[in-house]
Amino acid sequence: MIYADYNGSAPLCQDVRDYLIKRLTDGPYANPNAIHHLGSKVLMAMENARSVCAKTLGADFKQVIFNSGATEGISTAFHSVMTETSKKRIIISGIEHSATVNTAKYYADSQGCEVIAIKTKPNGIIDLEDLEAHINDDTAVVSIMAANNETGVIQPYLEISKLCNEKGVPFICDTTQFIGKTLFHFKNCGADYAVMSGHKIGAMTGTGILLAKDPERVKPIIIGGGQERGKRGGTQHYLGYETLAVALNYFEKHLDNIEILNNKRIEFETKLKEKFPEVVILGEDAPRLASTTYVAYPGIHGQAVQIELESKEIFVTTSSACSDNEPVTSKVLKAMGVSDDVGRGVVRISIGLCSDPSMYDTILEALSQTYEKLTKIKSY
Ligand code: PLP
Repeated sequence: MIYADYNGSAPLCQDVRDYLIKRLTDGPYANPNAIHHLGSKVLMAMENARSVCAKTLGADFKQVIFNSGATEGISTAFHSVMTETSKKRIIISGIEHSATVNTAKYYADSQGCEVIAIKTKPNGIIDLEDLEAHINDDTAVVSIMAANNETGVIQPYLEISKLCNEKGVPFICDTTQFIGKTLFHFKNCGADYAVMSGHKIGAMTGTGILLAKDPERVKPIIIGGGQERGKRGGTQHYLGYETLAVALNYFEKHLDNIEILNNKRIEFETKLKEKFPEVVILGEDAPRLASTTYVAYPGIHGQAVQIELESKEIFVTTSSACSDNEPVTSKVLKAMGVSDDVGRGVVRISIGLCSDPSMYDTILEALSQTYEKLTKIKSY
């Protein structure tokens, strides 16, 4: 079996599995906010996890706020920014995840904000000039991702951050697909907020981090009993947060894998295109995550490819997990100006830093057989 949907959700990485088995066996279990000895031990382990996360993400200890994941992080970041401004313009891009799109829409619907989605170039990179042209005195926030979940295209997040800092506009950077796949340094990046989800990096699902440049300005959306220094109420998922530290440590120890995977992915794509010159790799010419390929054979339906690969025990997806049932060109590809002929044909192959790169050989073989079979009975 080959699991190639890491951008949807990554399996627990081996170090996390080993850690959890030992941790579940040995304990301790207690409320980290309890004042007894066991509570203090749990708190110590959790705060140790926080400092490991801070170190690997280039943040200060206090800038790390544990939560349930990126969706919550984005909501909290928006809430923090929007409650301290009367400005009404929200700038996102046309390739944002629904966690951002729908949060921006919430402020449009409830507070009369104007949401502007800036343009994306055909290679999948957002248009910086369009962004600059749209930032005005009424701009409350810019929220743009560092890497796209569908194409894997890396965005000019450092330039966006610099521009926002120059213009005095808060910048929320959605780093959900970036962190754990390539190097990220929060303080050097300059964003006001960055977010991540544990399940994208091999840690436990239902865990995540909101990174805040100025944690004092974070306004909690979950009030509760003052946990996370009053920034996120509710008893912490301390076991899960410990796995975030283990997974980020694993990533740091295996940085060499990025280049190995990147080379193998390029080899895979090159061989595929040699066999099938019609094949389109989305975002081909843009900098991309090492382990994401978004590929289409025009005229062959992506779901047909997915089903065929699944029959060979290879699990890919047709577009982002949330829109799997929609047999239409995704909004990300529409923003890139991709035709329906290509857009309906895409499958996303995404693996992780701990995957065996030789998986690409098996996927190449299976995908070639699939295209050979399906070109005889083109879907549309
Ligand atoms: N942002 C991006 C770029 C994503 O890919 C995802 C999940 O796919 C999210 C945000 C939301 O993450 P979660 O569902 O873990 O909260």
